[in-house]
Amino acid sequence: MSSSAGPVASSEGYRYDVSRNLVTAGLATQAVKPSSNYIGRSYDAIVIGAGFTGLAAARDLSVAGKHVLLLEARDRIGGRTWTAQVDGHNTEMGGTWIHWLQPHVWAEVTRYGLVDGVKISSGTSNEADVSYLNDTKDGFVKERPEITDLRLLPLMFKFMDIDGAGGRTLFPQPYQPMQCADLWTSWDISLQERADQLDISIEDRDFLLSWLCINACSSAAESSFLNMLRLYALSGYDFNTFMEICGKMKLKEGTTTLASAIYSEYKGASLFNRVVKSVLSTDGEVEVATKAGDVFHAKHVICTIPLHCLSDVEFSPSLPQAFKTTKHANLGAKVHIHSSLSVDPWFGISDGNHSVCAVFTESPSAQGGTHLVSFGISDKLIAQHHIKDNPKAYILALQNDVVPKSVRIEPTHITWHDWTRDEFAKGAWASYGPKQLSGGLGEITMNPRLSDRIILANADWATGWVGYIDGALEMGRKAGRDTALELDRIAG
Ligand SMILES: Cc1cc2nc3c(=O)[nH]c(=O)nc-3n(C[C@H](O)[C@H](O)[C@H](O)COP(=O)(O)OP(=O)(O)OC[C@H]3O[C@@H](n4cnc5c(N)ncnc54)[C@H](O)[C@@H]3O)c2cc1C
Repeated sequence: MSSSAGPVASSEGYRYDVSRNLVTAGLATQAVKPSSNYIGRSYDAIVIGAGFTGLAAARDLSVAGKHVLLLEARDRIGGRTWTAQVDGHNTEMGGTWIHWLQPHVWAEVTRYGLVDGVKISSGTSNEADVSYLNDTKDGFVKERPEITDLRLLPLMFKFMDIDGAGGRTLFPQPYQPMQCADLWTSWDISLQERADQLDISIEDRDFLLSWLCINACSSAAESSFLNMLRLYALSGYDFNTFMEICGKMKLKEGTTTLASAIYSEYKGASLFNRVVKSVLSTDGEVEVATKAGDVFHAKHVICTIPLHCLSDVEFSPSLPQAFKTTKHANLGAKVHIHSSLSVDPWFGISDGNHSVCAVFTESPSAQGGTHLVSFGISDKLIAQHHIKDNPKAYILALQNDVVPKSVRIEPTHITWHDWTRDEFAKGAWASYGPKQLSGGLGEITMNPRLSDRIILANADWATGWVGYIDGALEMGRKAGRDTALELDRIAG
């Protein structure tokens, strides 16, 4: 089903040209795909959403010989993961970094022969310096990461060590997060609350929390300790491994190559630019209607719409309360910066109380200078206005919040996707606040089905790497297999 043509402009993504003071909307990408020429009305299965969850489910169902329709609201595949081609640079607008310690994504990277196409982001390489806030005249310390680690790693261990076993007793099998719920319920507190329990100086506490806020792009009060402990468990209980998994390795040609590879194996029909408005169980099948007026029928539906958008769709049976009330905390922003000045490999952070919480060098630019990637905090400057309405404010915040005086950045362009105001995402990667896993998220995790015929699957409630590409692939593959087995059972 893939098109082998070059990049086409998506309606999505923004770019700001500093010298012209001009914002343009729409970026070129290989992720834009044509809809199928012929679309029938009746299918074995309909998969809603062409993010990684939907792509994996649709591929596996069609490879198993099922008659499948993939319905997507956007003009492209990939959902919250897509690569824009900007001045010859593969610019990751959403999901980016992957790792061989993430089993589902690495299986796909291997399946499509993309292992040789993995590169390291320069700001997370061994030669990169790190910088963080402190009360020096500059406001920042810039040093070798080995020096930072001497202070950070013992503090991090203390932070996670709630049980004298380095945190190991709460998630002994991290892909079964609900297994020891009775042990962890009382630990479903915020990062701030956990840090306040430690007998450490205020400086050490703030230093520790500044490294943790990046994960959720939100403040320490809004981010859950338990969510962090889950990811730490998945990272083999090692904070540096966690950081490496989250920000070191990426696909040189872009994540859209992986999405396109999965899509190329898909043998069913696809319809883009179709917003699903209802998913209704009827007698022995499911009716799916779009806002454009199409009505389709299928024996089974896999709905991969993100958590924050599910309530926009009418479901029967109706959506369980947990899906309506559970929210994740990440309303942050990811903004690429092109600097005309070259910047040596470097990783800079501030904390959850600043507008911009992290920035790091990504790679040298073909035009000269350096590409950097930055992350903005949800409830600060970012949420108060669209970056597109005041891009200069973002650049100013970046310079003030996270760039030490010893580093010089000269932004010529910034590039971003406004995930929080995107009606089909309403947020960035799912990172939860306190009381979610012990509440609604836990319920969702244990039962992501609406009925025998409707599965709700998305990375936002993955059992493993929740909020990550790996989690999307895990959920998509499982939903695809469960649906195929059920179809086989019905067929006798
Ligand atoms: C800024 C950012 C940075 C990230 N960084 C990383 C990273 O480095 N590594 C990593 O592993 N993960 C990262 N992630 C997370 C990762 O991108 C997501 O977890 C993953 O892509 C989610 O895939 P999904 O298919 O479950 O959901 P989505 O990608 O959200 O797919 C759902 C699809 O459903 C469609 N849809 C929604 N509503 C409707 C409707 N009504 N009708 C039809 N279609 C609809 C959407 O358009 C979308 O295509 C990042 C995410 C963001 C936003």
